[in-house]
This record gives sequence, C-alpha cells and structure tokens, in this order.
Amino acid sequence: MQSLPEPGQAKVVDHDSELIAGLLAGSRRALAKAITLVESTRAEHRQRAQKLLDTLLPHTGRSMRVGISGVPGVGKSTFIEALGMYLIEGGHRVAVLAVDPSSTVHGGSILGDKTRMELLSQRTEAFIRPSPSSGSLGGVAEHTREALLLCEASGYDIIIVETVGVGQSETAVAAMTDAFVLLMLPNAGDDLQAIKKGIMELADLVVFNKADIDPTAAQLAAAQMRSALSMLHPASANWQPPVLTLSAIRKDGLVEFWLVIEKLRRTLTASGEFEAKRRHQALAWMWQQIDAGLRGHFRENPAVRAALAELSVSVESGATTPAAAAQRLLMLAKRTF
Ligand code: GDP
Repeated sequence: MQSLPEPGQAKVVDHDSELIAGLLAGSRRALAKAITLVESTRAEHRQRAQKLLDTLLPHTGRSMRVGISGVPGVGKSTFIEALGMYLIEGGHRVAVLAVDPSSTVHGGSILGDKTRMELLSQRTEAFIRPSPSSGSLGGVAEHTREALLLCEASGYDIIIVETVGVGQSETAVAAMTDAFVLLMLPNAGDDLQAIKKGIMELADLVVFNKADIDPTAAQLAAAQMRSALSMLHPASANWQPPVLTLSAIRKDGLVEFWLVIEKLRRTLTASGEFEAKRRHQALAWMWQQIDAGLRGHFRENPAVRAALAELSVSVESGATTPAAAAQRLLMLAKRTF
C-alpha cells in the first residue's frame, strides 16, 4: 500500500517539477540550482536530488565526456577556453566541470574560481561549474558525476571534466569520462612522474601544450612519449593513445585535437567498447556507492562507536592485531545491521 505524502511533500514535488522543466529546456539557472541540490549533504536534499536524477536519467548519456588532467600551469584553462569556443562555433553546447581535491582540504582551490575562462563563461552555449568544495575526494567525484548527468539532461553535448595532477583525482575523472586526456609540458619531466604514478595507463590521448615556445623540444617530447606509450599495454586493442603537440594560447592544434577525439569515439563505438566502458563505469560507480554507504553505516553504528576508541588504542600499542580488531568491530556491526 502506498503511504500518504508527508505534509509539505506535494509542494516540494511541484517545486522540483518546475526545476526539471527548466533544466530540460536548457535554462542555465535551473541547471545551476539542480547541481547545488545534488551537492548538498542535507538528508532531505539528498532525497530530492536522487528523485531528480532518477527522473532525468532517460535524458542523459548523449554527450561526449572528456576528462582533461594536467599540473597547475600547464594551460588547462587556456586550452579548455579555446577548445570550448571552437566547439561552440561548430554548434555544440559545452559544459565544463572540475574535480579539485585541494578545494576540499583547505577551501582554496588549485583550479581557481570564476575569473578563469572569462570568454567562455560569457557564452550562453557554455556552462562552467567549479569543483564542489566540501567532502572527501570520493564525495567531490560523486557530485561531479551527478552534475555531469544533469548537464547532459540540459542539452550539453560535450562535457569536459577538468582535474589537477594530484591525489587520486585523475583516476576518479577517468572513471567518469569516455576519453581521458593528459595535458603536459615539453621539458617538464612530469612525463616520468606520470609514468611512475600509473597515470599514463589512464590516458587515451597525450597532448604537449605550449609548443609555440620551443617547437623542436615539443616534437622531441612527443616522440619520446610515443615510444614510452608503445611499451605500455593499451587499454584497448583498437586504440593506441596518440600524442599531439599544440599551443592553446595561439589556438594551434585545436582542430586536430578534436578530430582525434571524434576518431576515438567512432573507433570505440564500432568495436562496442564505448558502450561497454560506460556500462562498466556505471557498475563500478554503484559499488563505490555501496562501499561508501557501508562504511558510513559502520561508523555510525552505536556498538562500533562504543568499542572503536579502545580497540584503536589497543591496535596502536600492539596489544591487539589489526586483523583481530577489524574482525571484532565487523562482528559488532553485523549484529545490529
Ligand atoms: P592551468 O593552471 O593549467 O589552468 O594553466 P593556465 O591556462 O592558467 O595557464 C598558465 C599560464 O600558461 C598562463 O600564463 C597562460 O597564458 C600560459 N599558457 C597557456 N597555454 C599556453 C601556450 O600554449 N603557450 C604559451 N606560451 N603559454 C601558454
């Protein structure tokens, strides 16, 4: 039997149906409001956000999702602005989202704020949203993924998710996009760093920016990267990650860049890998949500809370093994799950 609506619920639903209509009609204001709702941690807002996402799900999935990563100063905002303007000229609608782990740690943000991409932000065909500034990296990535779906429902056919080369943010962004691009500088030595950190394996495309400064150095860096990449096992038998050079500031190489992204989409769509990757990403996302939910239940469990401090001390002092303490806490949680 269906339960009766709580007092006030009908009003909330009405309010959200307006929001949904606005968002579907392409209103940037409605989209911004909806994203604020999904970023909220208040239980009541979370519920509304989930309903909103459920309703909008049939309208999602029709964009090309591109992840762009690179260290601060490599030229991400210059590149994204130039690319965004180029794509808008071609009739696209472009949304730019960010995953910035630094914004969650000290409130400040490596990716900066509204002053970036000034030209692009003035265009009605563009939507730019900075990184959510609260929660763990997992929380930020979750909200960005939900924001991405909202942007798709609002008619943006190209979504760019930008991140910095710190922490696990690259893995998180690669897990929510169709193409993951690594932006680098010739001569910076960060190629070695990326190889060490396992970031190279995530890249579908590597781009050396600022090729205008020293074109020969950029070509050399690209050649070295090609040979380094050829030694890695590619994620797809049908796609060996290409290496490009460009100059974001001179808007040189943007056309070639986008041709490669389109080729990637065509190639992986033909082989079935494009859809397979999205299906895999959706399942992985579900499991991450389950893991996070279970961890939350566990930490909030009264029996666990009562025993946790003492057991932690006991593990630190070596009186109890970590495995025994974990077992004990899991048993306590299980009894009341
Ligand atoms: P982000 O921190 O990765 O977003 O980097 P920015 O886009 O803010 O760029 C950092 C600096 O590099 C700025 O002063 C840009 O003007 C400059 N820059 C970006 N792209 C290029 C380029 O292609 N060539 C040159 N010479 N400078 C660039």
